[in-house]
Formats: sequence, structure tokens, C-alpha cells
Amino acid sequence: MDIHEYQAKDILSKFGVDIAPGALAYSPEQAAYRARELGGEKWVVKAQVHAGGRGKAGGVKVCSNDREIQEACENMFGRNLVTHQTSPQGKGIYRVYVESAMSISREIYLGFVLDRSTQRVMIVASGEGGMEIEDISLQKPDSIVRSTVEPAVGLQDFQARELAFALGIEDGMVPQMVRTLKGCYRAFRDLDATMVEVNPLVITVDNRIIALDAKMTFDDNALFRHPQISELRDKSQEDPRESRAADRGLSYVGLEGNIGCIVNGAGLAMATMDTIKLAGGEPANFLDIGGGATPERVAKAFRLVLSDENVQAILVNIFAGINRCDWVAEGVVSALKEVQVDVPVIVRLAGTNVEEGQRILAQSGLPIIRASTLMEAAERAVGAWSNDLKLGVNVRAV
Ligand code: ADP
Ligand code: MG
Repeated sequence: MDIHEYQAKDILSKFGVDIAPGALAYSPEQAAYRARELGGEKWVVKAQVHAGGRGKAGGVKVCSNDREIQEACENMFGRNLVTHQTSPQGKGIYRVYVESAMSISREIYLGFVLDRSTQRVMIVASGEGGMEIEDISLQKPDSIVRSTVEPAVGLQDFQARELAFALGIEDGMVPQMVRTLKGCYRAFRDLDATMVEVNPLVITVDNRIIALDAKMTFDDNALFRHPQISELRDKSQEDPRESRAADRGLSYVGLEGNIGCIVNGAGLAMATMDTIKLAGGEPANFLDIGGGATPERVAKAFRLVLSDENVQAILVNIFAGINRCDWVAEGVVSALKEVQVDVPVIVRLAGTNVEEGQRILAQSGLPIIRASTLMEAAERAVGAWSNDLKLGVNVRAV
């Protein structure tokens, strides 16, 4: 789960990381009011969306008076911000963060990620802040310094000092840098984050170290033990198809194609998508309905897949290992009776009690296209929608 910049800054500041004074606003008038509350002469209005690259896309504006703040806000509120990290539709702007403008002398990149190969938290930093890490690694790979944290002891002072020296932090500011690094690490570890990125971490002209941008991502599987983090979820920033799936306990990722997939098991779901591509089609989604493909779950899956209006055929691919094909077949039949499905449905069953499962599908009287191998199922799914296209039939309009 992702959170907004202002939320990540609030969290990091509780762990001892310094941030600039700032306040949240939901309207242009409120933004101007909050700037007056903050005081000073210059502010930065920052669109709060779950994506980086806002600066280059017009989502970060420096303002020197009420009028400029209102104008900046009017160009943001209610619009979608398209950055290189969003889809072409962009992400809706419904809140802005008004922050005192800092006088910056240096920008540093700081990231905390999970390194799967060492199974450790890895700190990645570079003196070339402000740029995206992908660009830094292409253009200035030598500027990147890394440090791996030993989980039994956590981030050690000497490690943090080494990083500070490698980044060329002046001696007098090293303790501040150590506090910042340790604060970010503790926030990462204590809250089960999978990523903390501060880009840029700045050194101001008056020698303060401040997190000027902040991004945090949390492990969804650990959210149950962090209710205060779950509260920060902002559905306006999510793909609505994926939010609906998450709310129903299904693992779904929306894609651009038109063949909907209902599969049990993540690996099988990936193989199903590959096979659809091999057969010349494009999957509309990744969907893992989990091990126990009960009729209720199958029905939920059909509703979810059909909520994507690009879907023109549905491929159900179930391997019954612990489960039984006859139960799954009953589930598919009862789901198809309950949910109005107006596109071709191709079902491939394999595993325990497959003959009985096939018999139930055949005798249901429903227009189910059966397939015995995954390749055959994929070819039939691709064939089903392309035939309809050739005939000029809009299957969804039936
Ligand atoms: P993004 O990464 O989404 O583009 P940032 O928060 O990193 O957004 O802002 C982009 C740039 O804007 C920063 O690299 C920094 O140079 C400048 N900036 C952001 N906040 C402030 C601030 N409070 N004071 C001065 N400059 C800022
Ligand atoms: Mg940034």
C-alpha cells in the first residue's frame, strides 16, 4: 500500500527525521489560509498523488503570495496529474500540501528497499539528488553508495557515519545525518514498510538536513498489525478494479487486454497469461482466486472480471490439487446461473475428479466452452472473441 507524501513525512518526523513546516489543504482558499498560518514569504504547493515525478509534470509550484497559491491550486484540484510514473490517465488531485520553501544548497537521494537476494534492508544513496534513481543509475552509477543492514542489530551508528562520509556530508552535520538515516530505518522496520524513499533529502543553506520529499510503501500482508497505517489508504489513488478485488480478498491486477482470467494459484495465473499471449491474445487481468475455489469465490471472480468493460471472453483455468474438479465445476455452474455473463466462457479443469467435473459442466445446459489443456483453452478464448469480432458482433451488447 502506498501513502501520500505528507503522510510519509508525518511518520518520518515521529522517528526523528526533520521535515519542513507544512500543512494540508482541500481547496485553494484553504491552501492560501494555511500558507498564512505557516508564515514566511515563499511556499511550495505540492499535489498529493501516489506518484513521483510531480515536479516535472506541474504538480509542484513555488508561490510568493495568496494569488499565486490560489492559481497554482486551481490548476491542480479536480484535475488528473500525469507523470512518467502514472498511467496515461494520471492520478486525481484532491489534496495539496503547502510547505515553506527551503533554501537548498544540496540535494541527496536516499532510499531504503528490501534486497531479496540478501534478504536484508538495503540503503541506497547518492549525492545526485533530485534525479530519479533509475536515471542516476544510468547516468551517474558511480555516485551510488549502498549499505546492507544486519537485522539482528539494526542500522549501526558506524554504518550510518560511513554513508554520511561517502556522501561527502560535512563533519559538523554527520550526527544529523546519522539521526536521519536511523530514523528512516526504524520507520521502515517498525511499520513493515517495503520502501522508504526520500528524494531529495536536502541540506539547506543554514546547514539543516531535511526530508523534502518522502514516499513510503507498506507490506499489505502486515497491514493487519498496523491499523494506524491502514487508515492512511486513499482509494482515489488506486485502480478501481484493484481496490474492488482487494476489498474482496482476491489478488487482482488489471491489464490492458480483453481476455479475462479466473485462475487458482499465482503461478498458474502467470502461466495462463503467458499462454493467452502465445495463442495471440491479450489478458485483461491477473487474478488468483486462491486454493479453495468455492462457488462464492468463483461468483465474486466473475463479477470482478466482468466489471472491466474491455473483457470479451473469460478463461477459467483451475487445477484441483487439494480441491476437487467436481466441486469447482459446481461452483462455476452456480456462479454462471447467479451472475449474468454475456461473453463466451472457456473452462479448463485438471486434477482430482476431472471426469466428474467435465460431466457437470456438460450437463449444466450452459453455453460453456470446455477445453482439456491450457493451450487449447487459450486458443479457444482467443478464437471466441476474434470470431465475434469477425462477425461484427459486439458480444457485450447481447
Ligand atoms: P517529485 O519527486 O514528485 O517531483 P518533490 O517533492 O521531490 O516531487 O519536488 C520536486 C522538486 O521541487 C524537489 O527536487 C525540490 O527541488 C523542489 N521542492 C520541493 N519541495 C520544496 C520545498 N519545500 N522548498 C523548496 N524546494 C522544494
Ligand atoms: Mg521527489
